[in-house]
Amino acid sequence: MSPTDVQAFPRLAARAFDLLLPPSCVLCSCTVEAGMAPVCAPCWHRLPRILPPRCHRCGATRLTPAENNGCAACAAWPLESMRAEAVCPMKGNAARLVRELKYAGWTALAVPMGRALSDPAQNLLRRAGVPADEVLLAPVPITPARRRERGFNQARLLADGLSHVLDARVTELLERRIARRSQAHLPRRDRLANAPGSFRTSVRAGGGEHRRSVLLVDDVVTTGATAAACAATLTEAGWQPIGLVSFARAWRTFEPSGDSSPHM
Ligand SMILES: [Zn+2]
Ligand SMILES: [Zn+2]
Repeated sequence: MSPTDVQAFPRLAARAFDLLLPPSCVLCSCTVEAGMAPVCAPCWHRLPRILPPRCHRCGATRLTPAENNGCAACAAWPLESMRAEAVCPMKGNAARLVRELKYAGWTALAVPMGRALSDPAQNLLRRAGVPADEVLLAPVPITPARRRERGFNQARLLADGLSHVLDARVTELLERRIARRSQAHLPRRDRLANAPGSFRTSVRAGGGEHRRSVLLVDDVVTTGATAAACAATLTEAGWQPIGLVSFARAWRTFEPSGDSSPHM
């Protein structure tokens, strides 16, 4: 096997995994129609939703009276123009879908999950005054090592799913500069300090591409630090990031303990 073959193996294995398993729902194991995505309609419709009122800036459920400039969850976002919207809170079966896609290789889930990004994506486009055919979809990159290991970037797969319903083109404008420490267990302050500078783009706006508006796509947004770092990198290269759309949204500010929380 050449090094290229070795790198491609996890991706091929993930695809084969999708094809070989019997068509059953990844959430409840009921049988779904052959050719259907691996989640049944009842499970899909029972996914948790982000409850209103939402922050107009970051899409999080507001637990405090509305303010003009976002909420506590997005108060530290450095770019005033940055916006985010998500489909589901990162809890229950929505969190399971994120994990099944990313860690279990259920890449076929990216089709319905990517399609579900359509409504929040169109909200962001409307607020930015940008038509769908004037925007580029840019997946948030993972590190090259992680991509080799996993065989795919889940954000890219979601962007592909979204592009089928939004009629917008997917372009990988960003790459991870270096492998940083995993941010998963860092306190929020450390995540914000860890993310900036982690991305780069070798594509400047205007070079053969008339579109300048960019909609970032990711599977999960937590603090918004990654989104802000991506947006800052794009802005420096002349692009106009209009926001980030994600399947799930996790946030810690104002998070009450226990599963009865209205937003988690
Ligand atoms: Zn099901
Ligand atoms: Zn907010």
